[in-house]
Parts: sequence; C-alpha cells; structure tokens
Amino acid sequence: MGDAPAVGNGAVGLIGEAGVAVPLFDLVRGFDAVRSEALAAFDRLLGSGQFVLGPELEQFEDLFAEFCGAEHCVGVSDGTAALELGLVALGVEPDTEVITVPNTFVATVEAIESAGGRPRLIDVDPVHRCMDPAQLRTALGGDSGAVIPVHLFGRLAPMAEILAICMGAGAPVLEDASQAHGAMAAGRRAGTWGDAAAFSFYPTKNLGAAGDAGAVVCRSEETADAVRSLRHHGSLPGQPNCHVRCGGTARLDNLQAALLTLRLAHLDHENEQRRRAAEIYRDLLDELPLILPEADAPGETQVYHLFVVEVAERDAVLAALRGAGIGAAVHYPTPIHLQPAWRHLGYGHGDFPVAEYLAEHCLSLPCFPGITEEQQVRVADALAAALRR
Ligand SMILES: *Cc1c(COP(=O)(O)O)cnc(C)c1O
Repeated sequence: MGDAPAVGNGAVGLIGEAGVAVPLFDLVRGFDAVRSEALAAFDRLLGSGQFVLGPELEQFEDLFAEFCGAEHCVGVSDGTAALELGLVALGVEPDTEVITVPNTFVATVEAIESAGGRPRLIDVDPVHRCMDPAQLRTALGGDSGAVIPVHLFGRLAPMAEILAICMGAGAPVLEDASQAHGAMAAGRRAGTWGDAAAFSFYPTKNLGAAGDAGAVVCRSEETADAVRSLRHHGSLPGQPNCHVRCGGTARLDNLQAALLTLRLAHLDHENEQRRRAAEIYRDLLDELPLILPEADAPGETQVYHLFVVEVAERDAVLAALRGAGIGAAVHYPTPIHLQPAWRHLGYGHGDFPVAEYLAEHCLSLPCFPGITEEQQVRVADALAAALRR
C-alpha cells in the first residue's frame, strides 16, 4: 500500500490532477464564492501594513465564537498549536497525563507531548468511532490531568457522557474539533462542550484557510487570556514589554483571518451540501457489502468532514478505486500506538482492537461541497465493481 495518500494539501486526488475523475477534495472551488471580496480584502491589508494582531483577526474571532455559540475565540497559527496552547491554558504541566484515542491525526498526540503532557490512549467505539465513554470511566484515575475527545470525520464524540465522567474526576476537557466545524448534538455545536476546543483551518477542513490557521474556542475569559498570551510571547494585552510566561509565536495572521471571515459566511451552506452528498451515498451504496457511517441520532447534525465506509480487503478496493480515477483515501492507515514515533508509550498490536480494525477497513470517499451526483454515481459504480471482484 505504498501509494496511500496523506491527508493534506499535497494529497493525491486533488482536482485537476491528471487521471483524477473525482478528487478527494476540491480546494479551488471553495474560494470561488469569495474570490473578489478576498482580493479586495488583501489589497486593503497590503495597503495598511497591519499584518499581525489587527482588526481582521478580532473580527474573525468574534464571528467564529458566535458561529460556535461559544464565549471566546482566539485565533492561532494552526490546529496543532490550538491543541497545544489549549492544553497549557487548561493547566497541563510537565508529566500531566492526557487521555485521547489512537485513531486520530498524529497532531492530537504531538500537541500533548509539546505541552509537556504524557499521552495515554483508550480505544474508540466501533459504531461512532470516537472515544468510548466506558473505557474513559475505567481509565480516568485520580492523577489524570486532561481528556481530548476527537470529533472524528465531522461527528461529535459522545460529549454528554464524556463530560459527566470528566466532571466527576475533575479532569478538564479539550475537544479536538479540527474535523467538526458546525457539527451539533443536542442543539450544541462542537466547541461549546468542553472547557475549550481546538479547531484547525487547514485548507482541507470544513472551514479552510489558504494556508495554515487554527483557533481555540472556550467559555472562560481566563482560558482565552492564557491562549492570547501564549500565542504572543507570553505578553499581556496592552503591555508588549511585560512577559508573564514563556510563550512563543503562534498567531493567526490578518490575511488568513480576513479570508476565513469571508468563507465562514458560506460554512453552514457548505456543511449542508456535505450532508446532502452523504445522503446520496447512503442511497447509492445501500446494497453493497460495506458498513456505512451511522446516520444522525435525534438532535444530531454530522458535517461529514469525510465520508468513511468500512470494507473487507480495503487495500485492494482502494487500489481499484484509484485505478478508476477516484480520489479515495485512508484516514488513518496506522493508529497512533503503532506509529514509530510513539513506540515509547509502550503499546503494541492488539492493545486497541477497535482502532486497529478501523485502520484496516476504513475507506474515505470523495465528499465535498459541490461534488455532483454524477461524480458520486461514478464513485459508487467503481466501488461496486471493486467489491464484485
Ligand atoms: C487537521 C487536524 C489537526 C491538526 O491541524 P493542523 O492545522 O494541520 O495543525 C489536529 N487534529 C485533527 C483530528 C485533525 O484532523
């Protein structure tokens, strides 16, 4: 499986790539609706010379907090920084144990270690594919410092149960909401459940910048102030020469913020388009021997960052799809505990059977705003042919 695509801007399967009939993402089309406004905003900014910590950033922060239904939003350089700074702001110190899941993008665990924490993994639930509350209840001991549930593929982790367990144990919760902008359960959006939430605006995400960007969303002013200070050399607002902690550079710049403000206005509609594409796949793939993502529970709104099915002999099916010009991919082929970088955590094969099962069987199909029904039929036909062999 040497040609497995990485997720990302350089991923195989982008629009316009030779031989790709249906790309995994369409990163160009998303900017069409905002292009002229974006160019005007860039022109204004280049004339103003105000590139860092300015009104465009504050405007985006206000709008994104409002979009989530949260009190505060602090723009940062990327989603990984949002996770790291969020953890530090919530009190994670050297050697604090931070619980998360093995089937996530590596950034979740990188951030725990960058913040000085010790990652501890627990398995996921086979149906919703997010953190299993039963395992959390067992794992959360007296010395557990924090918990990061990951809202994988645009679906909220079971937050009500997770929060009840964490509150009982006094452990703060940081949502990894990098794949779940606008996702909702019980009338509450991603970003309003935990003590804080980390968002990525990497170009492929549901809300994507033209480069790297991220944000921490939170309820308390204290947490927001801590992140503001951490992203800007540990200084305090209005006191540029007083450094109250060892911070760093992790700011969201005004060019990206201006672009994100323009794109945010389209996010609900684009998420609706993803949801519609998911419904079309459900109809098209209904009879095939594969497992579809579970449909919305009552009161739930998934935003399908990815549409992920489970199939037997996944690598052969993936190769057949790629051969047919379909930009399918795998998120993620190797769970964290089997990655060389985290051998020191001491886990091995068999430790997290659900995550390992998903890594072997999951297959991400093209599902982006603007995908046509014709393209989806093409994906379904190619998948049916691959499964018949
Ligand atoms: C994309 C992503 C991140 C990291 O975001 P960057 O902006 O690329 O640093 C973290 N966690 C998850 C689950 C992601 O999908």
